Amino acid sequence: MKNSMIGSITDFAVLNNGIRMPWLGLGVYQAEDGPEVENAVKYALEVGYRSIDTASVYGNEIGVGKAIRESGIPREEIFVTTKVWNEDQRQKRTLAAFEESLERLGLDYVDLYLVHWPVKGFYKETWKEMEKILASGGAKAIGVSNFLVNDLKDILADCKVVPAVNQMECHPYLLQPELLAFCKANDIRMEAWSPLMQGNIVSVPLLKVLATKYKKTPAQISLRWNLQHGIVTIPKSVTPSRIKQNSEIFDFEISSHDMLALDALDTGKRFGPDPANFSF
Ligand code: NDP
Repeated sequence: MKNSMIGSITDFAVLNNGIRMPWLGLGVYQAEDGPEVENAVKYALEVGYRSIDTASVYGNEIGVGKAIRESGIPREEIFVTTKVWNEDQRQKRTLAAFEESLERLGLDYVDLYLVHWPVKGFYKETWKEMEKILASGGAKAIGVSNFLVNDLKDILADCKVVPAVNQMECHPYLLQPELLAFCKANDIRMEAWSPLMQGNIVSVPLLKVLATKYKKTPAQISLRWNLQHGIVTIPKSVTPSRIKQNSEIFDFEISSHDMLALDALDTGKRFGPDPANFSF
């Protein structure tokens, strides 16, 4: 059975400014710059991924850009995301940080530029700089990451441009239904980071049961669950077999009954930092 909405790796979510963002991307946090990240990105592009998620703080923008250029795939067919780091926000150098990211990537634009974390006292000023980056054409879309409902309300109160995306930790232990509903109501696309619980999905009993039922793996069940919630997903792997496996999520559909059972796993458990209380 195929989901009529999301049935192919080439399918995309349409962001609030009309930009098309692939439902699936490769995350590269903790992929080392150089051969490790280059090989992962090249292989992902070979097996059909068309979206890569990096950040200045990951230290691998150079390798990501090199792999994209060497892939031979036209630039406009690949969706590239990077992010402004917290220290750059504090030093009020978002525009400079953006130019440095472009330089490292060796690209003349990115598809999506994100505010990596809501640094208190700074993120509203950062957002004004993000709006300038969008206006200049340096980024096709701008968004945020790790913004909770109150942070979003704060931005929405006086922004010119509504964030196109909010990238949050999201997996069956952490759905955050109120945040998801708020984003949907305001046409902000949710995107899931750590969709595989940083590898811990393999020990979730229900994911194992459903993996057997659907003849898939726990990772594929978790990623497909993201998609069926309308959430863009960016699993990380530097292992070719897993990169491919994580892309094979477009040929089956989780029943609504099983979606509800997965939703019921939500205990608010985080594997990464809590956006309400971070100190970096
Ligand atoms: P993930 O949940 O994607 O898990 C990655 C881990 O799972 C790696 O150890 C990987 O191992 C392993 N893995 C990958 N595929 C499988 C599989 N099929 N079965 C079992 N294990 C698997 O974690 P991340 O934290 O990396 O999140 C994904 C991406 O989200 C990041 O890479 C980054 O781009 C983004 N992110 C954004 C954040 C933000 O603040 N905005 C914060 C954190 C992440 P291996 O690589 O060895 O195959």
